[in-house]
Amino acid sequence: MFKNSSFLIDITKCIGCRSCQVACKRWNQLEAEKTHNTGGHQNPPLLSAHTWTLIRFKEFEKKEKLHWCFTKVGCMHCEQPACASVCPVGAFTKTETGAVVYNDKVCIGCRYCMIACPFRIPTYEWKKAFPFVKKCTFCFDRQTEGTRPACASACPTGAIAFGTRTEMAKKAHELLKNNPEKYNPHLYGEKEVGGTAVMYLAPKGVEFKELGLPELAERPLPTWTWNALRFVPSQIVVVSAAMAFFYWLTKRKTKKKDVNKEVRHDA
Ligand code: SF4
Ligand code: SF4
Ligand code: SF4
Repeated sequence: MFKNSSFLIDITKCIGCRSCQVACKRWNQLEAEKTHNTGGHQNPPLLSAHTWTLIRFKEFEKKEKLHWCFTKVGCMHCEQPACASVCPVGAFTKTETGAVVYNDKVCIGCRYCMIACPFRIPTYEWKKAFPFVKKCTFCFDRQTEGTRPACASACPTGAIAFGTRTEMAKKAHELLKNNPEKYNPHLYGEKEVGGTAVMYLAPKGVEFKELGLPELAERPLPTWTWNALRFVPSQIVVVSAAMAFFYWLTKRKTKKKDVNKEVRHDA
């Protein structure tokens, strides 16, 4: 099993081939979805319940130089995840692999996690009768068996380096030190919101916000949410717990009905 894992995504190496996107779909058996041409290379345009990672395409001109940047986006697997801190039923866990994993068995569908995430990552199965939240799992299943995440294994250029967070930060700082003419000197994700397991290097002259990565403070978000949540009346916590119970009961009944139907069908 891998521990304290991290990605170091080097945007200067990404060629936008989207092998990582396809590998994620294949490994996680995510169905294809209808998409449309948005006038750029980015396809599909947004993350969804069926697309847990995508290549964000940005094209811009600066000082008469044309920049074409491809940024692999998905869950950042925050060291102190805001999604976990706001979830009233504890559906998110930061595991020792480094992955932030979601437990659909306890989720009550309140979607606080979607609002709290500073990177706007969790998505929802809007079209299902009993929907769940969906996001990149950091291939927790593969990591626990000692196999690298599917997207990192598929990348043909080495743009997605995988290792411990300490190794990835060390590698990034060596690259920055030895190639000041190539890189923006900032390692994104090292300190933002208390640090993330996914870190990025960008080309020199390109700001992370121009790539769609938000400018965030170093303070972990759960310290803010905790300050706010401690003023939430205890009745709301009780109502949340009751909602969780009824939601669980409904799901259980539906599952039972489905099983009975299948049994009758088989007989
Ligand atoms: S990026 Fe968002 S969904 Fe992922 S761990 Fe951080 S807060 Fe949670
Ligand atoms: S780590 Fe796994 S789940 Fe996450 S984007 Fe890569 S292949 Fe998909
Ligand atoms: S597989 Fe590697 S080079 Fe291809 S789009 Fe993904 S990160 Fe970029």
